[in-house]
Order: sequence, then C-alpha cells, then structure tokens
Amino acid sequence: MSKNYNNEIEQAYNAITVMEEAQRCLLCLDAPCSKACPAGTDPAKFIRSVRFLNFKGAAETVRENNALGSVCARVCPTERYCQLGCSRSGIDKPINIGGIQRFVTDFEQQAGMDILEKGEANGMSVAIIGSGPSGLQAAATLLSMGYAVDIYEKSAKAGGYLRYGIPEYRLPDHIVDFEVKRIEKLGACIKLGTEVGKDITMDELKAKYNAVLVAIGASEAKMLPMFEGSEITETAVSFLARAKEAHGEVELPDNILVIGGGDVAMDVVTTLKLLGVKNVTDVVYEEFCEFLASKKELEGAQALGVSIIDGYVPEKVEGNTVTFKHRRIPGELKLTVDKIILAVGQRTADDTLGIKMVRNEVEFDGYNTGDNKVFVAGDIARGDKTVVWAVRKGKEAALEIHNCLGGKK
Ligand SMILES: Cc1cc2nc3c(=O)[nH]c(=O)nc-3n(C[C@H](O)[C@H](O)[C@H](O)COP(=O)(O)OP(=O)(O)OC[C@H]3O[C@@H](n4cnc5c(N)ncnc54)[C@H](O)[C@@H]3O)c2cc1C
Ligand code: SF4
Repeated sequence: MSKNYNNEIEQAYNAITVMEEAQRCLLCLDAPCSKACPAGTDPAKFIRSVRFLNFKGAAETVRENNALGSVCARVCPTERYCQLGCSRSGIDKPINIGGIQRFVTDFEQQAGMDILEKGEANGMSVAIIGSGPSGLQAAATLLSMGYAVDIYEKSAKAGGYLRYGIPEYRLPDHIVDFEVKRIEKLGACIKLGTEVGKDITMDELKAKYNAVLVAIGASEAKMLPMFEGSEITETAVSFLARAKEAHGEVELPDNILVIGGGDVAMDVVTTLKLLGVKNVTDVVYEEFCEFLASKKELEGAQALGVSIIDGYVPEKVEGNTVTFKHRRIPGELKLTVDKIILAVGQRTADDTLGIKMVRNEVEFDGYNTGDNKVFVAGDIARGDKTVVWAVRKGKEAALEIHNCLGGKK
C-alpha cells in the first residue's frame, strides 16, 4: 500500500513563500475576508502582521476567536467563506488565507506559544457530551470564563470527525493531538470511552453539573435500503475511520465502486487511490454542473485517476453487480465490483438523549433546548455542517450557557 496517505498533500509555505503570498494582499480597509469568517477570525489583521514579520502577533490574532486554528487552516472550505469575496480576485486570484493561517499556526506550535488562557474559577461546572470541534471549542471558551469542564466522549480518542473522518493527507493526527492537548492543558478533563445514555445518564449529568452541552454531531452513516445486507458494502465514515485508525494499513481489493458526490465521497476516492487501489469508480447522482464537492477536491480526485460517472441513480444490487439508471436519458449502467462504499451522508438518530431531531438537527433556533440546564452545539444545531461553523456554534453555545447561569456575555 502507498504511504502517500500519511503525508499532507498540500504544500506548506516557508518564511519566504508566505511573505510572497502576504505581499499580494491589498490590505483592504473594511476587508471582505474579515467579515466572512463564521468563527470571527480576522484574516486582514493576521496577514498584516505577517507582512511586518510579526508571526507571533499573527498567531495571537488567529487564536483570539478560534481554539482550533491549526485545524481550520487545513480543512476550512475557504472558497465558500473568507476567500469568496477577497478583493484580490478582481486582479488575479484570491489570497490563500488558509495557507497563510497554516504557516502562522505551525509557527505557533514550533515556537511553543501558549495563547489560550484559563479564567479565574467561578465555582460552576459544565458537562460537554462529544469531543468534536464544537465540544472542544465550547470547552476552551467555558474554561476561559472560569468554568470547570468535563467532556464525555464515547470513542477511544478525542476529536470527533477531526479524528475519525477527515483523512490524514488533509489533517494529520498530530495536529488533532496538538489542539486536544492544549485544551486539556487548559483544564478540560476528557472522559474517553464513556457513552452518555449508556455508561452514564443525562439525569445523572444534570444532577452533577450546572449545565450540560450536547455536542454529539451526526455520527451515524446514512444507508440506502437496497444495500442493507450487502456483504461487500461499507459506509464512507466506517471506511475512513478504519483507514485513519490503521494509518492506511488496510487491505483493499482492486475494483471499488463509490456512490456519492459530496466532499466525503471525494475523501473516500482520494484515500482509495493514495492507498494504491487500481480501479476506483465514483457514480454520482448530480451532474457535473451541479456537483456538491469542492472543485479542488474533485479535480484532485480526477488527477489521481478516479473515474467519475455523473447523473446516475442506483436501481438494484445483485451480489457484486449494481445497476444504475440515468436521471434524464434512457439506458442503464451495470458495474461489477469487489467492494462498494456508500457516501450518501451522515445523520443523527431522531430522538437523541431526549432531544428531538428533525432532518438531523434540532427543530429550534439557538442553543437552549427549553430545559434551562441542557444546550446543544455543532452539527446538530442549525447552520452549516463544517468545522468552522462547529467552532462558531461551540463558542456561541458556551456564551449562552454563561448568560443563562447569570454571567455576562
Ligand atoms: C469524512 C468527513 C470529512 C469532512 N471534511 C470536512 C472538511 O474538510 N471541512 C469541514 O469544515 N468540515 C468537514 N466535515 C464536517 C465536519 O467534520 C463536521 O461538521 C464537524 O466535525 C462537526 O462537529 P461536531 O462537534 O458537531 O461533531 P463531531 O465531529 O461529529 O463529534 C461528535 C462527537 O460526539 C461523540 N458522541 C456522540 N454521541 C455520544 C454520546 N452519546 N456520548 C458520548 N460521546 C458521544 C462522537 O463520538 C464524536 O466524537 C467532514 C465530515 C466528514 C464525515
Ligand atoms: S479581502 Fe483579500 S486582499 Fe483584502 S485584506 Fe482580505 S485577503 Fe487581503
């Protein structure tokens, strides 16, 4: 198997190339990039610091609003947020804000900077269920306001989809370790291998803590009914978690069919290619003009030799053969493969820990469930399902808890 999987694909800037990129920035007043970050990061400010060779100041700016700055630098779909309205696009191409942020947070790590600060203890405590990005960010914000924080995590390691979803070649494990350790150092106690609802109940948490934050994400994979019982079918999140845990040491056959056309599907097909699978075919419901995956991820997958067939819907599965029909034109497509991976979305159970979900998210706006002790954050709360939004929701939910417990925002 190829070891490319364990190395970051994206080239990092060095001190010279980061300056070249920062020099392209127009240092806009009222900068569009700074208004567009869901987490409230101010790229114009940190790029200005980089131009003055003040990397330390730049790192402090990134961390002001984002406890997961080095993760977001790598995985944020910046083309949808800060880079979308970048004024430099009118001249040639937007500034690579994620790349500059990665340089700055790598510098922070190498320089051993400790930017996050713990607040003076206020005598109150919060239980957080789930150690994904929203739970981790909420913990950092609550700790900075003086709360004691325990995080309950059912998996063996912390990080949620940062740990078990996003592949190594985009987000190495050591970066997730770095972010998690800093939040632990700030005082968070992470209770791994503890599932709320099974090992401990919500009522026990409510009795023990001043507030409970439910940040459980959408950890179940969706399954198309016709594939249930198919022995050669696996879901995308199960496969990606397996590959990540084994650092790419997984046995795979030569011919693999992937169904789905979002970013998770692109992660699957790219991972398969980096692990040396000969024939990877991705059949997608959308046509190319309406593709859900980011252009960068799609082009990356195609460059590795993935065959992408657009506009087809699966009709039936018989053993190793799947029959598809086109959405608009007559005719069918039959593929015989060794393995099938379904990348058709993730979900949250309809009634989770006593919280009612409608189409995988809570049915109310904001973070309070109506029970003044129970709050929600992350993918189950309304808003985009991305890491930077999980950070935003974690921070806002922490401030809401603080407000409800009598603190000031
Ligand atoms: C393969 C993949 C790739 C992705 N790539 C990107 C990307 O490039 N960029 C981007 O911005 N977003 C990406 N996303 C989306 C992003 O990962 C999510 O939006 C984000 O992780 C949501 O954060 P969260 O904190 O709500 O939940 P999660 O990250 O899902 O974490 C929830 C945690 O809660 C734990 N948990 C659940 N139930 C319980 C319980 N009862 N008791 C205790 N613990 C529990 C789970 O084990 C998990 O650790 C990707 C998602 C996937 C699946
Ligand atoms: S919008 Fe683009 S050019 Fe303007 S400050 Fe932000 S990164 Fe620089």
